[in-house]
Amino acid sequence: MPEGWRYAVGVGSNLGERREIIARGRDLLDAGGVARVVESSDLIETAPVGGPSGQGAFLNGVWIVASGFGPHQVLAELQRIEAACGRVRTVHWGPRTLDLDLLLRDDGLVVSSAVLTLPHPRIQERPFVLVPLSLVAPNWPLPVRPS
Ligand code: ADP
Ligand code: MG
Repeated sequence: MPEGWRYAVGVGSNLGERREIIARGRDLLDAGGVARVVESSDLIETAPVGGPSGQGAFLNGVWIVASGFGPHQVLAELQRIEAACGRVRTVHWGPRTLDLDLLLRDDGLVVSSAVLTLPHPRIQERPFVLVPLSLVAPNWPLPVRPS
C-alpha cells in the first residue's frame, strides 16, 4: 500500500461498548488496504455537543493514518467502517456507535466538495478534537478560524 500522506481522523462513539467498537474500527481500517493507523491519542470522555438531549457521553480521540489515497477515497473508507461498526444514520448529530471524521491532511490540503470539507470545519470549536490533535500532530498546519 502506498503511504504518501498522513491524515488526521476524529474518532467518536457514544453508543454500545464504545472502547471495543473503536478498537474494532481501527482493526477494520488497518485490514482494508486504504489507510493504516500509525498513531492514536488517548480516548477521552466528553459530554455530547448539540443533537438531541439525553444521549450518552462520548469517547473521543484522534488517529493519524497513513495512506497513498486521496481524501475522497479515504472518507469513503471511513464511512464503510462506520457502517460495518453498526452506525445507522437517523438523527443528525444523534447517538452513534462510531463516527469517523476526516479532520486534516498533513500538507493542509483544502477541499470543498458536496461530500467533503477539508480541513474539517469544526476542529477549532471542539476541544475534544483540538486537544488530542495537537498531541499527536503538533506541527500540522491548522486552519485559521474565520473571524
Ligand atoms: P457529523 O460528523 O458532523 O456529526 P456525519 O458523520 O453524519 O455528521 O457526517 C455528515 C456528512 O458530512 C457526511 O455524509 C459527509 O459527506 C460530510 N462531510 C463533509 N466533510 C466531512 C469531513 N471532513 N469528514 C467527515 N464527513 C464530512
Ligand atoms: Mg461524522
